[in-house]
Amino acid sequence: MARVALVTGGMGGLGEAVCIKLAALGYKVVTTYSPGNTKAESWLASMREQGLDFKAYPCDVADYDSAQACVKRVEQEVGPVDVLVNNAGITRDMTFKKMDKVNWDAVIKTNLDSVFNMTKPVCDGMVERGWGRIINISSVNGQKGAFGQTNYSAAKAGMHGFTKALALEVARKGVTVNTISPGYIGTKMVMDIPSDVLESKIIPQIPMGRLGKPEEVAGLVAYLSSDEAAFVTGANIAINGGQHMY
Ligand code: NDP
Repeated sequence: MARVALVTGGMGGLGEAVCIKLAALGYKVVTTYSPGNTKAESWLASMREQGLDFKAYPCDVADYDSAQACVKRVEQEVGPVDVLVNNAGITRDMTFKKMDKVNWDAVIKTNLDSVFNMTKPVCDGMVERGWGRIINISSVNGQKGAFGQTNYSAAKAGMHGFTKALALEVARKGVTVNTISPGYIGTKMVMDIPSDVLESKIIPQIPMGRLGKPEEVAGLVAYLSSDEAAFVTGANIAINGGQHMY
């Protein structure tokens, strides 16, 4: 029977590539979108035009109750979740001097609390069934910090601690927990950065001299989701064009 993969934020640049890749590999792919997202229906229609019949559920990943309700619906309507990709995320960049509590909380809740909120309702089932994959999409900026991103860097770094601790707890149960830390990938999140900043500051930091492609990250998600990756757990896999090498 096809494994069920739940990808949060699948309508974003990176999440979409992950959904498409996992569907191509035969997973039953389910995704989430923010309750206020008015483009969800048109996204689903455009996927159907490509022969991809994804299911999508409204879910505020930053909200514990919303996440529990969403996973419950997925499990009732599609089946138990075998692969969870915690991909939804936001940025609210500003220097620490300007950082206020609202923008701190928004990023910590959406990027870090969400990992707890979504993993909590799926983890016990994975352990009971003796198979599961939890993949947390972190960031190079969680590894090395970034100017103007105390909130984002803290949230993404927090994912690494969560990943390693949970990986220990479920290691003997057939469940792996890993992070992927992308560098700059050419999605809306990055294309929103002013082009002069991209050209003069960001691309010159990348030894390969280009942004990454969402499909390149999706390939890593596919690997970590597979049976071949059964011995990889508690790992952080960097994919950053050489920007940060440890
Ligand atoms: P996008 O902005 O394109 O997509 C982000 C997704 O997150 C959207 O689908 C959005 O859904 C969803 N989302 C945001 N807030 C919530 C919420 N409260 N509840 C539910 N869903 C939410 O970003 P990317 O695709 O570029 O990024 C995906 C992940 O990869 C993020 O975690 C990001 O931090 C990480 N990353 C990205 C990098 C890059 O270079 N692009 C580099 C390193 C890491 P909706 O539109 O419905 O709100």
